[in-house]
Amino acid sequence: MSILVVGSVAFDSVKTPYGEAEESIGGSAIYFSAAASFYTPVDIVAVVGRDFPRESLQFLSERHVDLSGLEVADGQTFRWAGEYEPNMNDRQTLDTQLNVFADFHPNLTDRHREQPFVFLANIDPELQGSVLHQTIHPKLIVCDTMDFWISGKREALLETLTKVDVLIINDSEARELVDDYNLARAANQILGLGPRAVVIKRGEHGATLITNGNYFSVPAFPVLTVIDPTGAGDSFAGGFVGYLAKSQDTSDTGLKNAMVHGSVMASFNVEDFSIRRLESLTQHEIDLRYERFIDMLTL
Ligand code: AMP
Repeated sequence: MSILVVGSVAFDSVKTPYGEAEESIGGSAIYFSAAASFYTPVDIVAVVGRDFPRESLQFLSERHVDLSGLEVADGQTFRWAGEYEPNMNDRQTLDTQLNVFADFHPNLTDRHREQPFVFLANIDPELQGSVLHQTIHPKLIVCDTMDFWISGKREALLETLTKVDVLIINDSEARELVDDYNLARAANQILGLGPRAVVIKRGEHGATLITNGNYFSVPAFPVLTVIDPTGAGDSFAGGFVGYLAKSQDTSDTGLKNAMVHGSVMASFNVEDFSIRRLESLTQHEIDLRYERFIDMLTL
């Protein structure tokens, strides 16, 4: 089954201890689609400005990512700049320019409305809400967010959360969302806001799935040289939702399997700047790493 994703398409400027990449292709919808496209077809709904080189997304079209919902608006593409600490887990946002996103009103086609799996990538929660309003009974709605929206659009985010099935969020954002430092308690409070499952990402320490009373953790696949963690969360979500849409198993067991696929896809993404690694990635490499990871996880 295919997936509808709404999220950002961006020019990212990123600085890590390994170097810098200026104005390279990024955005939550792009990282997500590049990862999820290995599992199932994806439809993107997003906006770019006239300055965006559409041909840079040709590789996505070749992988059954439908870009007809990528609107081109007058103005500049969304821009984000960030710098990572030497530990590569913590980062500072240096700049966020919404540009064409400031006036974006997603209009879903009939085909988009009927997609069974919906991923609300990191984007203004008001836009996430407007997308949900237009969808017709999706089988599963998964949502991501970040500190920028937790502090800037809290009410809209809380409203969106009442309608989603799974929230994927990182540890510091989970704490900020419910104002509780204890992650187990924070996760339970998030479940009280609407989702039936929450995935808490902890960077190089892996990720934990929390459903009603159950906890399931996977480590991060050990990557020896992390070059750029940008998009790790979105590519995790791509593997996670991609697997769920492909298997159509949205039970707790399905969610657990999806955690492994999410970790595998995120581990590739961090091996190079921007979307370079996801662009060159092959199914064979994914299969090999998945098998190695399962070996590592098995007693
Ligand atoms: P991640 O590293 O998985 O958190 O995702 C990083 C991506 O999120 C980058 O490619 C950014 O362009 C995008 N991004 C950063 N801030 C925002 C924001 N406020 N809204 C939407 N997308 C954003």
